[in-house]
Order: sequence, then C-alpha cells, then structure tokens
Amino acid sequence: MFDVTRYATAAQSIVDAGQFLYGRGWSPATSSNYSARIDSDHVAITVSGRHKGQLTAADVMVVDLDGRPVQSQCKSSAETLLHTVLYRAFPEVGAVLHTHSVKATVLSRLIAAGQALELEGYELQKAFSGVETHEGALSIPVFDNTQDIPALAEDTRAWFLAHPEQPGYLIRGHGLYTWGKTMADCLRHVEAFEFLFECELETMRVRP
Ligand SMILES: [Zn+2]
Repeated sequence: MFDVTRYATAAQSIVDAGQFLYGRGWSPATSSNYSARIDSDHVAITVSGRHKGQLTAADVMVVDLDGRPVQSQCKSSAETLLHTVLYRAFPEVGAVLHTHSVKATVLSRLIAAGQALELEGYELQKAFSGVETHEGALSIPVFDNTQDIPALAEDTRAWFLAHPEQPGYLIRGHGLYTWGKTMADCLRHVEAFEFLFECELETMRVRP
C-alpha cells in the first residue's frame, strides 16, 4: 500500500513535467516516459502511449520496484525497468525523466560505437546536482537501442553503479535518461543536457 497524498503529489509533478517537456519539443508524438518516487517500494509513472502535453492524473499509474502495476489495470511503458532499476539502486533518487528530443537523437547517432559523449569546460555543467565547477568532465555513455529492455536495464545498472556521479545516459537514435533527488532537479538536468547537446552539435557544424 502507498500513501494517496504522496501519490497525488508525485502524479501532479509528472503532469507538470509533461507540459514543460512537450512544450519544449522534447517529448513528441506520445514518446517519452516520466516517473516520480512515492516511497521506498512504489513509483508513479506515465501510462504507456499517452500524449505528454495533455497528461492528467488518469495518465499516471503506480508500479512497484520490479515494474509491476499496483492497483491498476493500466500498462506502463515497455521501458519501465529502466526507471525502476534507478530507484532500486539509489534510495535518494526521487524522479527519472526520459525524453526523445531531436538533438539527443541526432547527437547519439553521431557518437562512434563504444565512445561516450564527453562534455568538458561548459559553465552549465554546474546545473547538474553535485557538480561545483566547470572544470570536471561529464562522460555520457551511449547505449545501443534494443527492444530487450531487461538486458538494457542490466547494462545501465552496471554503468551507473560504477559511475554514480554521472547524471544521465543516451540511447542511440532514441533519447535521454536522467534522474535527480526531486522532479525540479530532474527537469533542470534535462534542460542542461539539451543546452549542452545543442552546443555540441553547433560545434560540429562550425568545426566538422
Ligand atoms: Zn523511449
């Protein structure tokens, strides 16, 4: 069982996130999925296939940390395990956002297989929780896209447990995953990533 007030707060944060992310063009055509922690065993998450700019509480459901629906007949995204694996590994994670922007999609296709996106020397790196200087480097891996989500969840888990300071990863030709202590942190991370992706693509344009 979960506390309904905590559920309502989590669901509202997801609805609000959808309006922002759809409005920026980062979650087109019913793509993407968002989640927010309710408690140590339950997560609120978007129902599969819903329009992210028009979410209501009816488009949010509850799953346990194995990704199984709790008190719901609805189906969450096929990618639910990519969310729950983060909540299970990091008790402090309060929200996970997955977006499908043009820039994340294009950039992830330009990074060579086996290489990470290295972000260095950008002032905006400080937008990520725990990053206090632009002098460090962010190393954002690009996982190959697959429909085998349990296998991908396992691959991401091995990576983020080895690199707990990194704030997100890309899936090739697909999109971004990022997380944070609160939904506000998580939204800031998406926005910072989008800025940095644009900078990287602009740099490639002028210096191919
Ligand atoms: Zn996706």
